[in-house]
Amino acid sequence: MTSPHFPPAETPSAALAGVTLRYPKGPVVLNGLDWQLLPGQVVGLLGRNGAGKTTLLETLLGLREPEAGRIALFGQDAARLDDAARARIGYVPQHSDLFESFTPAQLLAYFRSFYPRWNEAKVEGLMSRWDIDRDKPIRKLSGGQKQRLSIIRALAHEPDLLVLDEPVASLDPAGRRDFLRELVGEVLDRGATVVFSTHILSDLERVAFNIAFLSQGRIALQAPLDELLEQVRAFTGSVTEMAALMARLGVPPLKRTALQAGRERVLVRLPADAALPEGVAAERLNLDDLFTELT
Ligand code: ADP
Repeated sequence: MTSPHFPPAETPSAALAGVTLRYPKGPVVLNGLDWQLLPGQVVGLLGRNGAGKTTLLETLLGLREPEAGRIALFGQDAARLDDAARARIGYVPQHSDLFESFTPAQLLAYFRSFYPRWNEAKVEGLMSRWDIDRDKPIRKLSGGQKQRLSIIRALAHEPDLLVLDEPVASLDPAGRRDFLRELVGEVLDRGATVVFSTHILSDLERVAFNIAFLSQGRIALQAPLDELLEQVRAFTGSVTEMAALMARLGVPPLKRTALQAGRERVLVRLPADAALPEGVAAERLNLDDLFTELT
């Protein structure tokens, strides 16, 4: 008898299960959060200011200890990563004021000494293309140049997991999306995982293949952007009508909003083969609407 062939399960680059974190005396920021990032995924982490994006990325990297939950990077406990796993991570924090008196050339030489793998040709290419002066003290670079340098440093050792916290915050609006696209192109061909946070929707268009919405301490939804636009619908009707519709569709609502006079508005991700009952009006949502409704 032959056994059915299953492809080997991929080890997630990052896996979080039931992660809860609160700052001392503060509210709960992450609340039983589950999340998985797979090789080859580019994920835009979307959430309002203060939703906890920075906290989540720091916690994912093992830089903050959650009060509950488990975090694995490449299958290893994030708090006890070995050096080989550590070398597979690239991280661009939102702000970093370290090394201000170094020049970019000195900074890169310093980091090169830590990594067994270091792509000097890529570094040189990006330094020229992104127009960074190698020999000026970092404190004299513009905010955008500092941010680009920080990204080059994080790309140089060809990480398998690249985590970027608001990577284009210091760039002008016109350049943001193009720059992100180029950045993502740098890592995609290697099957790496890229996750970047943003609160600016236009950053995501044509860049983030997957979007994760962070809301109330959890990932409310993660899916490819084109699928979301294709599948998410809003329905409005009486509570009874909506309950009947949900039962018929057999999917949990993403969000329910009570309206006046016993009516409600329900957001649903339709299954691919969903047939809507006659007479039911379904409203499509754009990315703006999704952001407003889900975060
Ligand atoms: P985002 O990146 O989405 O803007 P943050 O992760 O920076 O959100 O912050 C989430 C929440 O945690 C906010 O309410 C913020 O004020 C609070 N917070 C962030 N850092 C700290 C800290 N070090 N100590 C206490 N509260 C913090």
